[in-house]
Amino acid sequence: MNKMKEKVKRMNPKKGFCNLILCAVVFCIIAGIGTAAKFGSRIPEMKQQIEAAEKTNEEIYQNTSEKERDREENRHEKEHEFEWNNIVTLTTSDYVFVGCVMAGFWIILCIYWLYTTAYVVSKSWEVGANAWIFGILALVTNLFGVAVLWIYIKMHLVCRECGMLQPRNANYCSICGSAIYIKCPDCGSRISIHDEYCNGCGRKMRS
Ligand SMILES: [Zn+2]
Ligand SMILES: [Zn+2]
Repeated sequence: MNKMKEKVKRMNPKKGFCNLILCAVVFCIIAGIGTAAKFGSRIPEMKQQIEAAEKTNEEIYQNTSEKERDREENRHEKEHEFEWNNIVTLTTSDYVFVGCVMAGFWIILCIYWLYTTAYVVSKSWEVGANAWIFGILALVTNLFGVAVLWIYIKMHLVCRECGMLQPRNANYCSICGSAIYIKCPDCGSRISIHDEYCNGCGRKMRS
């Protein structure tokens, strides 16, 4: 468990996110330039091919409906013959290129997903929340898990000494024992140990 903690901490999710965004941007630029270089010059040609195919499709549709008005099925079959692959001729290198772009996209998505989970797990450890529950939630639901952890932290007090979560009504931290809330000596209001003034009577708390 400790070894795992070290590993996740060494991942440094925040820094990792920045690197990941950088990678994603570079990937998009490369993929964009690649797509433009690969298909840009062929767009007019592709347009012609699509237009020609649509025309043929239309003709066949009309002819079929005239000749075989009753045979709906036949017409549908004919329509299905015009798939994207038949309209535009794709070469092997086209498929390889599209495959690489898709693979890159999936790799970046997977790394992003793992980093989100790592962030939630390490944050849970940091504040003393249940890392298993929040980690699994983040692994399954991604950003929803992050939001739930965030709300969970907001529902608690964070001890300023040790950083652990404490119940909202706690006066002392149950982990390190330092005071969180004290009573104002003048009016008895419950005030934070870090308040400058009492918000019940305005007494200056720290000199
Ligand atoms: Zn504490
Ligand atoms: Zn007071």
